[in-house]
Amino acid sequence: MKHVITMIPGDGIGPEVTKPAQEIIKAAGVEIEWESFLAGAEALERTGETVSDELLDSIKRNKVALKGPLTTPIGEGFSSANVELRKTLDLYANLRPVKSVPGVKSRYENVDLIVIRENTEDLYSGIEHIVVPGVVESLKIITEKASTRIAKFAFQLARTERRKKVTAVHKANIMKLSDGLFLNCARKVAKDFPEVQHNDVIVDNACMQLVLNPQQYDMLLLENLYGDIVSDLAAGLVGGLGLVPGANIGEDCAVFETVHGSAPDIKGQNKANPTAMILASVMMLRHIGEAEAADGIYDALVNVFTKRKVFTFDLGGSATTTEFAKALVDELGH
Ligand code: NAD
Repeated sequence: MKHVITMIPGDGIGPEVTKPAQEIIKAAGVEIEWESFLAGAEALERTGETVSDELLDSIKRNKVALKGPLTTPIGEGFSSANVELRKTLDLYANLRPVKSVPGVKSRYENVDLIVIRENTEDLYSGIEHIVVPGVVESLKIITEKASTRIAKFAFQLARTERRKKVTAVHKANIMKLSDGLFLNCARKVAKDFPEVQHNDVIVDNACMQLVLNPQQYDMLLLENLYGDIVSDLAAGLVGGLGLVPGANIGEDCAVFETVHGSAPDIKGQNKANPTAMILASVMMLRHIGEAEAADGIYDALVNVFTKRKVFTFDLGGSATTTEFAKALVDELGH
């Protein structure tokens, strides 16, 4: 069956990692007609807008998109196209599986964590203003509706994936109202899932515990900002940002991407690790019912690391992005 899927190559290393992902999906025998759109910094430069109506219509029509990272300027300039996409399409759940990849040397082995991040509110609401010169206010929005919805998503996923435990991560000792509400919603939802264990931990302690002993956690449930930060920390446990995929999921649509950003420091050097984007493609293929192709790509990826021993620079190797992608396509053909 042919699928129609929206493609956003993205900024920085985005096109360098989405191209191999498309090649590998094709090599796995899945037929996809891609509808490709610019978004983010490059789109702004060429078209005057970061997220076009045509792009949004395409995702709404196709229900699925594969997206490269998008650049957001720091401390000035336009607001995040990522946040706009997530909010406009109500992609309320950010699901980030952080899993040790066989053959990849990293600080820990056998890490198998799922980070669930609320994707639509918190400090990412982008509501900031200058009170008086020298004093600014950023509003942290936490609602019962969004907190309950993300908690239900996490526990439901734990149930279907037969995971053992969901740990809510918070700072409710300080932000008693906002984080207190998030935590209470998680505790309330947990009662409907008696077969899933539930506990909670303060975010600073969670970071230390993750570095000491990541295997003690199974699924982490976090607000938007903590989820963003803890995802990168967790990526570091299994070998870095080059390895961790993610999905932004709503009632109607799903947008698959990497945890990493546009990596301007290595843009155009053919050295980005495409694994995270390939694993995002594996998640996407499972989502559209192409589980066999997804398994084939995953197994081939593991063989590239364990048997062929092909590694990009971030994993201590010297393979270029294109050499790595070629090894994977060759492996798939075996
Ligand atoms: P980053 O994730 O782009 O890079 C952090 C570090 O990891 C860099 O040293 C980079 O070279 C390295 N890295 C990232 N991906 C890699 C890969 N595939 N292979 C090898 N090394 C890799 O984070 P940043 O530098 O803080 O942000 C750059 C831009 O990306 C910013 O504009 C930010 O807003 C944006 N961003 C976008 C997304 C997204 O689109 N979902 C996510 C995070 C950051």
